[in-house]
Amino acid sequence: MIRKILSNKCPNCNEGHIYSKKNIYFNFFSNKMNKECENCGYKFEKEPGFFFGAMYVSYALGIAEAVAVFILGRLFFESVYDMRIIFWIGLTLLLLSAFNMRISRIIWIYLMRKI
Ligand SMILES: [Zn+2]
Repeated sequence: MIRKILSNKCPNCNEGHIYSKKNIYFNFFSNKMNKECENCGYKFEKEPGFFFGAMYVSYALGIAEAVAVFILGRLFFESVYDMRIIFWIGLTLLLLSAFNMRISRIIWIYLMRKI
């Protein structure tokens, strides 16, 4: 399941792609999402505002990444609450924002496919 999500595949047929560009990791500017699967016709956006819920997935991902950077930062800073870690957390979240948006929509599609 995680491999299918990370490979940007359709949850219905596992053949078509959710985003038009197959590389969802290092694509900062092009962010076009297919309306439906090019292979089986599975509709990705069920209704207007469907991806509103993906915001919560994105929030959870952001918190997980921030905690990961905080834990990693403890290896490099002497103090546990060194304020310089805030810069690194912010930079990480900024760099991962485009990826987070794409992956959270894909996760949301996979979560909501049975409903
Ligand atoms: Zn499909």
